[in-house]
Amino acid sequence: MQQFDTYSFSGKKVIVRLDLNVPLNSEYEITDQTRINAALPTVKKIIKDGGKAILISHLGRPGGERLQKYSLRHIVKSLSKKLNVTVQFVGDCIGEEVSEAANKLKEGEVLLLENLRYYPQEKAGDPSFAKKLADLADVYVNDAFGTAHRAHASTAVISSFFGPKDKMFGYVIENELEAIQKVLENNDRPFTAIMGGAKISDKILLIEKMLDKVDNLIIGGGMSFTFFKALGGNVGSSLVEEDKLNLAKIILDLAKEKDVNLFLPPDSIIADSFGNDAQLDVKDNMEIPEQWMGLDIGPKAIEDFKEVIAKSKTILWNGPLGVFEMANFQNGTKSIAEAIVEATKNGAYSLIGGGDSAAAINTFNLQNDVSYISTGGGALLEFLEGKKLPGIAAIVD
Ligand code: AMP
Repeated sequence: MQQFDTYSFSGKKVIVRLDLNVPLNSEYEITDQTRINAALPTVKKIIKDGGKAILISHLGRPGGERLQKYSLRHIVKSLSKKLNVTVQFVGDCIGEEVSEAANKLKEGEVLLLENLRYYPQEKAGDPSFAKKLADLADVYVNDAFGTAHRAHASTAVISSFFGPKDKMFGYVIENELEAIQKVLENNDRPFTAIMGGAKISDKILLIEKMLDKVDNLIIGGGMSFTFFKALGGNVGSSLVEEDKLNLAKIILDLAKEKDVNLFLPPDSIIADSFGNDAQLDVKDNMEIPEQWMGLDIGPKAIEDFKEVIAKSKTILWNGPLGVFEMANFQNGTKSIAEAIVEATKNGAYSLIGGGDSAAAINTFNLQNDVSYISTGGGALLEFLEGKKLPGIAAIVD
């Protein structure tokens, strides 16, 4: 497989699939630059080599329509500033005007094309649309990990129009693959996975996969209450998936069978309604009163989990341990984030991502204190579950 770093892009037209799907406010201002920042090293390397960079991406869900609010035009200014070049822009991603602009590019110049998802053919993985994109360039670089689990025209289908030496991943995907490999294959022990978030049903494949890999599995967040109910506990009106009670029991048995230490939170911060102004209390998770719900892990759970994390040498964290979006239910997720930071300082390798845990760690401003934060939500989950991602397979296979 062609390595990105050793390829010389000098004089080549390079089509680069990025994930520039940044959030915009009603004034079309970028409210979080994370994805643009992540894309910069790859583009910089190409233009430093004297390549001609043609950048493609989706933005939001325009559903095949040309909606102004989803125009990539809104990011031109910021991208130009960060790359320190004037980024050229064409209001389309295929067609004559685009080909002309691509052909006129000089070495070291950058052209950004309009939102790929203005065309329904993008999500449909239409080969003729993919070929029109491919015809713009000599080389294809995929660096959009966040969409690698989709078999879209620009993420998977396009690569069939390039020879093996002229298609490759950029730095973002290379780093993601390295981080995942470090956690799943080349890990130091003990290996602890921390799983939170709302529902077991979203995470079941990952939980099953992790039971074959980890020494410790910590389960918190909304999904823990299905386990407590399955164990015969009173969970009040906490989030429960009634149809997953049996599954929860199976997971508990499987953990025993596979010799994995499974940790559930012994207590919770409970509230009498789902809101920041609710009345609060602390209770054991087997004894939550009627009408009350657990919205964050409690003090005993924090102590238990911190102890496990402190002894871990590899840590994977997916999903918040409480409703961290509300200040009253942030403490559990924050304490666990801090414990992961501390373990990382002491030499552990920590990978955060998939779901809201990356957002959580940004909220607490700890994003620079862990080993790696994945740029992929669904893509990371599917990868960890052992699924083949079309955007990865298209280049590796
Ligand atoms: P996920 O996308 O599956 O990682 O789920 C994240 C969501 O789970 C966040 O929006 C949290 O607010 C929510 N969540 C975490 N803990 C709880 C809880 N105890 N009760 C209800 N929702 C929760």
